[in-house]
Amino acid sequence: MGADSYNPMHAPRYCGIPTFMRTPHVADPSSLDIALVGVPYDGAVEARSGARQGPRQIRDMSSMMRAIHHVTRINPYQLCRVGDVGDVNFERIFDVEASHADITGFFQRLHACGVTPLSAGGDHSITLPIMRAIAGDRPLGLVHIDAHTDCCDEEMNSRYSHGTPFRRAVEEGLLDPQRTIQIGIRGAANSSECWDFGPKHGIRVIYIEEFAKLGVEQVIAEARRVVGAGPTYISFDVDGIDPAFTPGTGTPEIGGLTPLEAQTLIRGLRGLDLVGADVVEVSPPFDPSGNTALVAATIMYEILCLLSEAKSARR
Ligand code: MN
Ligand code: MN
Repeated sequence: MGADSYNPMHAPRYCGIPTFMRTPHVADPSSLDIALVGVPYDGAVEARSGARQGPRQIRDMSSMMRAIHHVTRINPYQLCRVGDVGDVNFERIFDVEASHADITGFFQRLHACGVTPLSAGGDHSITLPIMRAIAGDRPLGLVHIDAHTDCCDEEMNSRYSHGTPFRRAVEEGLLDPQRTIQIGIRGAANSSECWDFGPKHGIRVIYIEEFAKLGVEQVIAEARRVVGAGPTYISFDVDGIDPAFTPGTGTPEIGGLTPLEAQTLIRGLRGLDLVGADVVEVSPPFDPSGNTALVAATIMYEILCLLSEAKSARR
């Protein structure tokens, strides 16, 4: 926070240059435990773009976040040094694979400093290059909340769209399908191949109907059973939530989670060995009210609380 007495958390929320959660903007990640990162990229979207605008609006709405969690009483800023390291810089924005390489490079620098990343997208294609940077000797486990499996082989003849990241991550050995759970899946498709990949490779898939039947507590138990004690990543697509709450997204599907169900689900992941997370697919042009970004910022805060505990437990 610097030597002076200025504390952005106590300043009026509309003041200053917006950063995630009003944390300090930090250029050198080696001074941090957890880095909040913007990944303003939506070049891998087939239908409705706009998620490139996500980080900026999420930063703005995240000024509504405070420090102490009302249920767990976790204060992530007491457990960890948290800062906003800015946005991934893109050298060739019209080239998907070059842009993904820029993302990987950025996260490799964070990973080399031992920093845990919590990112705001961007479309869901960004998770693959993030995993390329942070998956170590051992593939990651994953809790994936989404209306879509994002396990397609190709989309519009591209292997690197926002519909393919988790299939590629399994193929590249970054993601352990046996330690992966997908929650909230729904909506019609033109082919079943994106649904078929997961079960065929051991991914536990909870469609929204099973979620409703089991209830959130049993889904939490199932998620904990699947990912176990190993290093685990959380990837949260805002279209997992019902578009009544998050209309600002490219591929909305009705009949989704409520924000409270999503919050409860995340809180149920407390104590896992969480090594990173992202919240993706916020597309501000479809929700200028900012409510989708408010939901995303709040989900980021919920995840930040868990990451800060996991980080301090590893120290
Ligand atoms: Mn997705
Ligand atoms: Mn989705």
